Amino acid sequence: MEVFRKKLLEHKQNLLTKVESVSKASKDESMDEVRDSADIASDYYERELAMGLSETERIRLQEVVEALERIDDGTYGKCEACGQLIAGPRLEALPFAKLCVECKARQENDKRTLV
Ligand SMILES: [Zn+2]
Repeated sequence: MEVFRKKLLEHKQNLLTKVESVSKASKDESMDEVRDSADIASDYYERELAMGLSETERIRLQEVVEALERIDDGTYGKCEACGQLIAGPRLEALPFAKLCVECKARQENDKRTLV
């Protein structure tokens, strides 16, 4: 479990570092505003930072943060849809996965039928 936590924290750090460089480059003033309200919950701060990310990176950051929360509340590694344990190799490849392979495939099939 610690291995996955470490991986997730690395993912998160990478994403946040990316956002920080984006924010610094684009809008210096708003970074000062964020710093002034340092008492605001850190997840709000992270969400603010996430505005500088692309859509994909924002979703990824959200997934990583949620996975870290699941580690904390002990539901990490379980499929959100069917409750089965997600296979180890899948978690190693995608530490923030919340669906097992079967449910993921089903979800993607459903999407395709909807479109
Ligand atoms: Zn499942």
